[in-house]
Amino acid sequence: MMKHNHLMAAATAVGIADGLVHWPITVLGLAVALPAGLISDLDTPTSSFGQRSGPLPYLIRAMGIQHRTLFHSVLFAALVASGVLWLGTAHHWPYTQVVALSAFAGIMAHPIADAFSASGVSIFWPVPVRVRFARMRVEGMTERTWVTLLMMVLAVGVTAYVGSRYGWGLF
Ligand SMILES: [Zn+2]
Repeated sequence: MMKHNHLMAAATAVGIADGLVHWPITVLGLAVALPAGLISDLDTPTSSFGQRSGPLPYLIRAMGIQHRTLFHSVLFAALVASGVLWLGTAHHWPYTQVVALSAFAGIMAHPIADAFSASGVSIFWPVPVRVRFARMRVEGMTERTWVTLLMMVLAVGVTAYVGSRYGWGLF
């Protein structure tokens, strides 16, 4: 998926997550979820995130971690969210739960969106199952037009719906 679609998927996901736990849509939640929605492509040196991460993508490759495996998995999202919860609770950080949930939602939105493309995703890594919902070509005409339009409607719609129901907030 293209970067802008991953960002909109992350916004949609944090909206759904906040709606599920009856939390307001917050600036903090979106500020965490949007970059979190791009982290997964750290395993690709050519991705926008990978290009800004110095030798890290190459190190990941050197460790034998393939694209769309560990960093595109539920395990990775759960590890990051648990890490945030653990650190935040230990150091009494404010809004730890908002940050942890938003990070989880943002990270999970990425592999779910990628699963609509032809090569699929190992979302349950290390379980060797490749998940694929569709066979869309990344950066193809369909993604540039229809998927982008759909993601805009989803991101705005979900955020507006949850925001109007549970409120808006900074934190
Ligand atoms: Zn990806």
